[in-house]
Amino acid sequence: MTDTPQLKLFNSLTRQLETFEPIHDGEARVYTCGPTVYNYPHIGNMRAYVFADVLGRTLRFRGYDLTHIINITDVGHLTDDADAGEDKLEKMAAQQKQSIWDIAAHYTEAFKADVKALNIREPAQWSVATDYIEEMIDFAKAIEGKHCYQLESGLYFDVSTVEDYGRLARAQTEEGESRIGDVEGKRNAADFAIWRTTPEGETRQMEWESPWGRGAPGWHLECSVMGGKLLGFPFDIHTGGIDHREIHHPNEIAQNQAFCGCGGLDEATHSGARIWMHNNFLVERSGKMSKSSGEFLRLQLLIDKGYHPLAYRMMCLQAHYRSELEFSWEGLGAALTRLKRMVMSVQPLRDLAEEGIAASTGPKVEPLLLRFIEAISDDLNTPVALTALEDILALKKVDSGEKLAAVAGLDGVLGLDLLELSREDLRIRPKDAQITEAEIEDALARRKAARADRDFATSDVIRDELTAKGVEVMDGDPLGWEWKL
Ligand code: AMP
Ligand code: ZN
Repeated sequence: MTDTPQLKLFNSLTRQLETFEPIHDGEARVYTCGPTVYNYPHIGNMRAYVFADVLGRTLRFRGYDLTHIINITDVGHLTDDADAGEDKLEKMAAQQKQSIWDIAAHYTEAFKADVKALNIREPAQWSVATDYIEEMIDFAKAIEGKHCYQLESGLYFDVSTVEDYGRLARAQTEEGESRIGDVEGKRNAADFAIWRTTPEGETRQMEWESPWGRGAPGWHLECSVMGGKLLGFPFDIHTGGIDHREIHHPNEIAQNQAFCGCGGLDEATHSGARIWMHNNFLVERSGKMSKSSGEFLRLQLLIDKGYHPLAYRMMCLQAHYRSELEFSWEGLGAALTRLKRMVMSVQPLRDLAEEGIAASTGPKVEPLLLRFIEAISDDLNTPVALTALEDILALKKVDSGEKLAAVAGLDGVLGLDLLELSREDLRIRPKDAQITEAEIEDALARRKAARADRDFATSDVIRDELTAKGVEVMDGDPLGWEWKL
């Protein structure tokens, strides 16, 4: 393709759009902060991984050899992102009277199931924090002399020892902080534990010997260590949700600067990565999404209510990743309908394209392909990219094989599974339905026969019976759905 636009990404560190230039020729190395596996992820958490997935797919589409790491945080994340509170996993294990390892295993599997359902590619590696304890201790030993001090409760990082601390958050280290009160003896409000020593007389289910006593690593240390170890400092892109921009990532950056012996952050790579990217939140009308209040919006809840999980992926793609997105069931329904319309345009192409996917692109498709590439290269503008794909599907008098080739290529970026999904997959199927699909089809066939015989009384009875079981008969529906549960 001529004049392929440059790939521009928004760097939270510089608050600017920047052209992606790989650190290693032809490669893209990406680290995504993974879930803390103390509970099921909510769909807001999954937005962060849909975003990271679109980023990874875009990098591959743009020809880079991608190495993508997502970690699993199974230790060290406190109930408060700074140093207050308890370890989230220890707390859940105590509440449920279960082994912490079982808790971690269970919720890791649940997370991976959501990843699969949302068509998020598996990363090159799931790195599990507790597999890297030795490396974390080595990292801490390497920086402690110049950058850390020990208190009874653990080893602390002194943020005044690195240049430009908090630039990512645009935070003033000493002002407006409520963090100083949390641990006695801290030198600066923003100092944080990189190793938390188990208090005398207590035991934790997860703890290890270290030069600073028996204890557990801090959450920020984990990501610095796994990112550096698996991708090498500096790597290309680090991602996470926008909350990580305030505490977790500034602390990772400070540790990385310390470890690499780097100076200030005017040189972005001193942070350990060249580009830091953050997705905005999925919110509920009532405010922040939470696992404890109101209806716990897990992907499984959406599935139980009958929605195909990719309708949620579509909902995410309809918004730019840096915009807040409000969840509503109406919005999810609209996303499902949009996905259905696309699938209904693609399905006949699959049957019609006798020669299969075409090798070349003609003059009608070409400009729309370019529009798609421009959109996705403009800081992953998926809302515009979606419309370009829809415009391709709506083209008249274009060979099916050619359209199919375009869909295959572009869906490689969007991940909506357009070549596999069928209309039937997208029917709303609530888990608690009182009637099976075969029974519905059977009733509708009887109704059709009755109407053909002009027996409208029987036809009405059948319709009423279906209504009583929650089935709406949709005569003349423009999308061709004959019924809805
Ligand atoms: P956690 O398991 O709490 O560490 O969060 C996993 C990921 O989800 C992190 O990247 C968070 O920043 C992100 N996240 C948390 N809440 C939301 C939300 N409501 N919308 C989008 N991303 C979120
Ligand atoms: Zn992290």
